[in-house]
Amino acid sequence: MEKAPVNWIDDYFNNYELHKHAFKNVLCQVQTKVQKIIIIDTYNYGRCLILDNEFQSAEADEFIYHEALIHPSFILHPCIERVLIIGGGEGATLREVLRYKSVKRVVMVDIDKEMIECAKKFLPSFHTGSFDDTRLELVIEDGRKYLEGTNEQFDAIIIDVNDPLEGGPSCMLFTIELYRIVAEKLKNGGILIVQSGAASVAENDVFTSICNTLSNVFPHVFPYVTYIPSYALQWGFVMATCNPGNLDITGEEIDDRINSRIAGDLRFYDSITHHALFNLPKYLRADIKRQTRIISDKDPMTEHYPGISTRK
Ligand code: SAM
Repeated sequence: MEKAPVNWIDDYFNNYELHKHAFKNVLCQVQTKVQKIIIIDTYNYGRCLILDNEFQSAEADEFIYHEALIHPSFILHPCIERVLIIGGGEGATLREVLRYKSVKRVVMVDIDKEMIECAKKFLPSFHTGSFDDTRLELVIEDGRKYLEGTNEQFDAIIIDVNDPLEGGPSCMLFTIELYRIVAEKLKNGGILIVQSGAASVAENDVFTSICNTLSNVFPHVFPYVTYIPSYALQWGFVMATCNPGNLDITGEEIDDRINSRIAGDLRFYDSITHHALFNLPKYLRADIKRQTRIISDKDPMTEHYPGISTRK
């Protein structure tokens, strides 16, 4: 019989809730200028990336998160050619974007060079070599600074950064001022996609505040959710656009577009999953409707994170 695992890592949801993972070993532990990076090999979810003590993604189920992040918008849009990714250091968001034959250019802007180096070395199943694709321009810079400085316009802008943790690098990428800049950098019919944090009963303030803030910039805002097993949480994403085009497409059309536009097989997303994603439960729709907070540069959203301990 296999010996009981002895290493445990604590993943705090907040001060009052905690999820524990047994792990085999620590593959990487680095304090960069930007954040603390840990990569561990867990028993149930394989390699996991942890930034500033918060679990970011896990080998066993990152396909759920990354397919949910990219494909609904890319399938609804008539033809995505130019893409901007802010964050996404594992390279898995990039991997999903590069599946599209129509994509001609991707600019990926991540603030942390060492994060990319760790991903290249320790997370090969996440990026699957995507950093070598000739369509990619990789920029090491703060995403907000990049957006403020560029004159380029994109069909899709994806904000895949850490939750807005107190003292963390991403807080100024969740404000109404930032979303106004993004709106200017989208082509006609262009789509913004935001990873938007926990969307659970106990915790959905970041998600619902992002929905409300985006609704004050974009006329069409579509929140959606899915359950991520390694987070043990329902997770939120938001799609926003000034001009949504024709959203009235059938399930058959979604599957036809998947077959004609995407290279390789998907494991999570298809027409049935698409409809599940956008059918939010009643309590969550009510919480989104009730939310009045507008996140701003003067009053940015920050979450206090209780942190993680590892022990034998
Ligand atoms: N899936 C993740 C989650 O659950 O929050 C987010 C993906 S990813 C690992 C977060 C990436 O965002 C990291 O690579 C980090 O370096 C990058 N990042 C954080 N703040 C940033 C900023 N201000 N500009 C650009 N990239 C940033």
